[in-house]
Amino acid sequence: MIPLPLVFDAPKKGMPPQHLADLDPAARRARLAELGEKPFRAEQLSRHYFAGHTREQMTDVSGSLRDKLDDLMPELFTQLRVVDCDEGATKKTLWRAHDGTLVESVLMRYPGRTTVCVSSQAGCGMACPFCATGQGGLTRNLSTAEITDQVVRAGEKVTNVVFMGMGEPLANYNRVVAAVRRMVDPTPHGLGMSQRNIVVSTVGLVPAIKRFTEEGLQVTLALSLHAPDDELRNTLVPVNTRWPVREVLEAAFGYTRRTGRRLSIEYALIRDVNDQPWRADMLAKRLKGKLVHVNLIPLNPTPGSEWDASPKPVEQEFVRRLRDAGVNATVRDTRGREIAGACGQLAALE
Ligand code: SAH
Repeated sequence: MIPLPLVFDAPKKGMPPQHLADLDPAARRARLAELGEKPFRAEQLSRHYFAGHTREQMTDVSGSLRDKLDDLMPELFTQLRVVDCDEGATKKTLWRAHDGTLVESVLMRYPGRTTVCVSSQAGCGMACPFCATGQGGLTRNLSTAEITDQVVRAGEKVTNVVFMGMGEPLANYNRVVAAVRRMVDPTPHGLGMSQRNIVVSTVGLVPAIKRFTEEGLQVTLALSLHAPDDELRNTLVPVNTRWPVREVLEAAFGYTRRTGRRLSIEYALIRDVNDQPWRADMLAKRLKGKLVHVNLIPLNPTPGSEWDASPKPVEQEFVRRLRDAGVNATVRDTRGREIAGACGQLAALE
């Protein structure tokens, strides 16, 4: 196992009470046994939890066990506010955790699929200057169950999860990987989602990408690149000063080689900052011949930022140059702008 630098160890103060979903199935059975209950009850309770059942719907839970539900499956979040747009197809929820910490998740309905964009941390420590979450700093890591809960409590059948809400997922490594395992667990101990329908997005923490490569998972990795050159990327994604473009791409291609999964490259187009034709060519050169897809994201407005999205013709030229060089590229449709629920806009303000 590759040890992660301590700098990723966010303050643990305020972590929520333990929830069954924090534990793997064996540990859940042990926990039930510890409380004098039959181990098979772990499966029963897990089934109820992942199905999103209310206490009243848990009709097969006996009296003695019922008294322990607050302990085993504490309520992790209070739903503070729901706002929607796109005629209800996009919905942002503000959640308050037990310690008052606020986080947001976004649900997006598309024909044939429903995606939840989950937060992995309250706030973020990566300080990308164009991202509202990055501007607020890191409050704390979310627990595994706090991550799965955003999906469970979406209130409808979720087919896709993207770790593109608040936080840097790979900076909360163990809890995020455990949450992914719960999401893809096909037994009553999980959500039974397809691995291919899960995207983990990272600023590019190289040791963590290497470790993630060894997890035996088949989820999609997205790399927030935003610039093909170190000089600019050092300013847009400050962690680049530690792991430069060449190293981060190498690590991400390594994930692709191991899993056979196509790598997503995220690139927010910022007017006159990273949208020059020569940068498109440089990006193409770095990605050429690799199993990648470039997601160009028109920059979403954030409070206090002096930056704008690139004009449409500039965006189109950027796409054309990538495609001409044989690199897959599309412009992401930015859902949720009107409700500050699009990429980089989650600030979780009450
Ligand atoms: N920390 C992870 C997860 C966040 S994902 C990561 O950085 O990958 C959110 C995506 O939206 C990232 O690619 C991020 O760089 C991008 N983003 C941030 N602010 C944005 C903005 N104002 N407009 C468009 N995209 C933005």
